[in-house]
Amino acid sequence: MLAMQTTLNKAIIFEGIGVHSGLSVRVVLKPATANFGIVFINPKFPGESFKIGSVIPEVAMQATVLKQKSWILSTVEHLLAAISSVGLDNVLIEIDGFEVPILDGSALPFVQGFLAAGLKVLQAPRKYITPKQDLRFEDAKTGRYIEIKPAKQSAVGVFVYELEIDYIADFNHNLIGNSNFKCTLTPDVFANDISPARTFGFLEQLPQVRKHGLAKGTSLGNTVVLSNEGFLNELRFEDECVRHKVLDLIGDLALVGLPLIGQVKACKTGHNFNREVVVHYIFNPDQWLII
Ligand SMILES: [Zn+2]
Repeated sequence: MLAMQTTLNKAIIFEGIGVHSGLSVRVVLKPATANFGIVFINPKFPGESFKIGSVIPEVAMQATVLKQKSWILSTVEHLLAAISSVGLDNVLIEIDGFEVPILDGSALPFVQGFLAAGLKVLQAPRKYITPKQDLRFEDAKTGRYIEIKPAKQSAVGVFVYELEIDYIADFNHNLIGNSNFKCTLTPDVFANDISPARTFGFLEQLPQVRKHGLAKGTSLGNTVVLSNEGFLNELRFEDECVRHKVLDLIGDLALVGLPLIGQVKACKTGHNFNREVVVHYIFNPDQWLII
């Protein structure tokens, strides 16, 4: 089925603190025209926008970080996961700081904002992206990998416009250990089964993370905290942590700039590893098909 591009019906504002900086920030998402794409701007740095699909994220452990000459933008992954999963193709995102607000640590408030504003259908067909051949990124030392298989095609060559995700986690923790989450991504699956899953962290690692100037805004209101004895907050899903890893993966894959279709299998990956997919696309666009 051929889908049309969308934008927002009206502007939406999200306000809150950044989980790493602890500083207040305001994000305004504005409707945009067909083929505009997803663009972040900071009014303090005119001419230094980020257009998603043409920017490689930085090497960073705790968040997905974009860097321009004069400014950086951190923790874009939950917002991008929500944008790509609800099917929002064109939006101008104006931010007055350096980090997307963490809100409740999940992507649910973003999804709720998009549903409340509504999406407007534009008179241009949506474009999708898929690799031409199987791709595999792997780190033999740690066992991390991502495999991406091209979108399936019918006997007459019609593409199946779906993204299947299979994520395998190994948290190396006595309480959560290994877990696996599989889905065919649709706006409903994302809204109900993935977007509510919150950021999580290990209590014992917090002092170390804060030493690096990160997690200054972390609280039980925006992070699921796990100690050696158990969770400090009530969970939204029994397997909330692996679902959040899937949320992060969707947000990181959204950095290719168009909705990805095909089958993704990922094992133990985080932001630093997920970025390999974007690096591959930006340096080898001829190995990807835009449909
Ligand atoms: Zn996350």
